[in-house]
Amino acid sequence: METSQILKEGDEEPPSQLLEWSCSDNGVVTLKKETIFNRFWPDATSKQWNDWRWQMANRLRSLQALSSLLNLKPYQVSAFKKLLEVFHYSATPYYLSLIDWSDPEDPIRKQAIPDLQEASFEVVGDIDPLEEEEDMPVPNLVHRYPNRVLAIVTNTCAMYCRHCTRKRIWHEGESASSRKDLEAMVAYVRSTPKVREVVISGGDPLTSNMDNLDWFLGELGKISHVDVLRIGTRVPVVLPMRITDDLTKMLASHRPLWLNTQFNHPREITPEAQEACDKIIRAGIPVSNQSVLLKGINDSVEIMKELNHSLQKIMVRPYYLFQCDPVRGVEHFRTSIWKGIEIIEMFRGYTGGLSIPTFVVDAPGGGGKIPLQPFYLLSATDKEVLLRNYEGMIVKYYNPQENGASKPKKTNGNGKSGGKAALFKENAKIVIPQNTPRFARRRKKNLQRCLDTHNQQAFPFWKDN
Ligand SMILES: *Cc1c(COP(=O)(O)O)cnc(C)c1O
Ligand code: SF4
Repeated sequence: METSQILKEGDEEPPSQLLEWSCSDNGVVTLKKETIFNRFWPDATSKQWNDWRWQMANRLRSLQALSSLLNLKPYQVSAFKKLLEVFHYSATPYYLSLIDWSDPEDPIRKQAIPDLQEASFEVVGDIDPLEEEEDMPVPNLVHRYPNRVLAIVTNTCAMYCRHCTRKRIWHEGESASSRKDLEAMVAYVRSTPKVREVVISGGDPLTSNMDNLDWFLGELGKISHVDVLRIGTRVPVVLPMRITDDLTKMLASHRPLWLNTQFNHPREITPEAQEACDKIIRAGIPVSNQSVLLKGINDSVEIMKELNHSLQKIMVRPYYLFQCDPVRGVEHFRTSIWKGIEIIEMFRGYTGGLSIPTFVVDAPGGGGKIPLQPFYLLSATDKEVLLRNYEGMIVKYYNPQENGASKPKKTNGNGKSGGKAALFKENAKIVIPQNTPRFARRRKKNLQRCLDTHNQQAFPFWKDN
């Protein structure tokens, strides 16, 4: 739904429908349709809607608003009250307008609206599984990897993602680091020459005071051993109108600057979000995406394909796909790690590399990000490795010796069957499943040449094809 178009003055079309059932005394159930816009911001103009300050000021965040959104019964209200005391909520009118309220499983809704499952945190999850607090040489500066640090400059976000890894800092209310805190971070980076990259994170740095951010980026940029700055922000997704010309101009003055955002579902790629990314890219700041793999939201190959293809189309580079961290209050979003590996398996080779993120698990205990991918290396000796491609083709690959001293000796494989064992026989180099589109194409061209060239040991079903 294109909110900016919908909200042209005088246009009656609703940004998003809410459904409400009511039951009269005589038992007749009626369905009442309403829009979230009419219910909460009936007097807003399109000018206001497109102003990020209005969006921030009109975020829904009260128990009362939640109760109205979800038609809560009194007993439910008290459960949600308890939940909000631990994990508050707040969402921009813009992001809320993307929700299809008739669908309880709506992927946008699940990211924005609290769910009582978050309260099952007695059972699983850690407050700070990544032990970020343990790796802070100065407050809110995480130094984990050798040459880069991560600065948490605020605990404020435009929208609080229910799956957030840093849910622990929501407790501190909404505040940003003071100039003095930022100075301490700058001083640490200045006195630590091996730091070449600073990641500015939060919370959401683009919700914080622009003069402070400008100053912080400027001070870091002046340090000779700092090569690159990076901002992590979800503003293009949840508050795209914040990407104003003034803001992009300020950011552009701090290049080389990279910006990572977090689109998790193709429906978040609205014309507004696309325009926000476009502005940043045109200012010479590459935009990359870090998705979180979330159960019931994007844990399918099809959705992930649509998401990453759409991102590539708007020139936002898929960078990471995160396994959802074992954070307290987030367990219901977590998938098996095999799901992430399956997604990569179905991407690699089938679609362009520029639309494939790296699947990573952030190691509990502060181990940092660990990339996971399907097994392409099947086995290895000093001289040879067995590799497989995305289709299942298995290839014996000659592995050059490090010092060039030893010549590969002939092997005495005794594989009698096809498949992997055949590759250990001297005369076989390759095993290829035949029923792939690629081979159908090749077969048309020159089947025999292909077989001769590769000295093929075909799978038994080869003849049938
Ligand atoms: C993710 C992260 C970084 C950046 O890691 P990249 O792999 O360079 O994206 C740096 N520091 C911390 C603490 C992080 O969690
Ligand atoms: S924008 Fe980032 S820091 Fe803020 S709630 Fe979402 S995931 Fe957490």
